Amino acid sequence: MKAMTGLKHKLSILIFLLLLADCSTAKKEAAREAVSTAEQTGEMSVEIGPAETELVETPVEAPPEAAPAMPIVLIPEELRPGEPLTVAFMAGGDGAARNFRVALLNSREERLAKAAAFSLEEDGAGVLAATIAVPSTALPGEALIRVEKDGVTLGEISFHIADREFAAEEIELNQQNTNIRTVPDPQKTTESEQLWGIINSTGTEIFTAGAFVPPVNSTRRTSSYGDRRVYRYVTGKTDTAIHAGVDYGVPTGTPVSACAEGRVVLARFRISTGNSVILEHLPGVYSIYYHMDSIQVTEGAMVSSGDLLGESGSTGLATGPHLHWEIRVSGENTDPDAFTARPVLDKAAILSKLGELGNL
Ligand SMILES: [Zn+2]
Repeated sequence: MKAMTGLKHKLSILIFLLLLADCSTAKKEAAREAVSTAEQTGEMSVEIGPAETELVETPVEAPPEAAPAMPIVLIPEELRPGEPLTVAFMAGGDGAARNFRVALLNSREERLAKAAAFSLEEDGAGVLAATIAVPSTALPGEALIRVEKDGVTLGEISFHIADREFAAEEIELNQQNTNIRTVPDPQKTTESEQLWGIINSTGTEIFTAGAFVPPVNSTRRTSSYGDRRVYRYVTGKTDTAIHAGVDYGVPTGTPVSACAEGRVVLARFRISTGNSVILEHLPGVYSIYYHMDSIQVTEGAMVSSGDLLGESGSTGLATGPHLHWEIRVSGENTDPDAFTARPVLDKAAILSKLGELGNL
């Protein structure tokens, strides 16, 4: 018995030391991730960075197994950085979706992403869902989805972030493109604020439930999702960014079509991205089309999957004709290939899993 107590005491010290070491790495990591979030597009971000980690001494006894207060469904249960996840749960009595938030935390409890919940069914039968993305900068390992209502944790479920490598590329910019990235311009700031206002908002309407289709009839890609980029300016100076979408190397005039049903929420010229179109597909889920030669839809219009949005080109910051296609989930850039591989909101799978948990 005495030997056991001694062992527990040693374990306690060991755990405390490990926590100390862990927290100091966590702070560096939090700082690093905050920097890379800001770098993602060169656009101004209104995202809140990861919270400071507090040092907490845990008791020697192992904490009781954390049983979720509310059953939560995750589809899929393992994914890579840059991929989307659908979370669903029963709201219970006072189930107004607007009161619920879903957060994604890493094993150090740092908040990597967040999303607002929405009603899965129009009759408001009590099933709420949220789509959330693992940022491309997330490290592999155990992670946590937390459901909160008015800031109070209602339930948690763990999942695993797999390892993923991203390519590196260097892009040389001429004087005009250097200016687009480096010369301050109030119009550029206004356009950036408008863009973040759109992609950080979560509506209530579900326009599409199926898998997305690629926007051009070509498989030739000149840049991949998540490329770690170095921009080299005419001055010789460099800057880094993470490529937020995929680039299709198609000639000017190639038809660009809607990847899924949705509403046109932006269709206009922007300084950095040229002729640009943004479609809203699900609460918090948007597809984005940049550098087009022409736009053939208007803001507010509804489109079906495959409808013509315009023609590709090389307007804005572009080193040649291409289509930049990007998907945002609650503000986070996400791998478009994850959306063509499977439906992001698989209602049948969600309802069947909730049924298995005895909630329906
Ligand atoms: Zn691009």
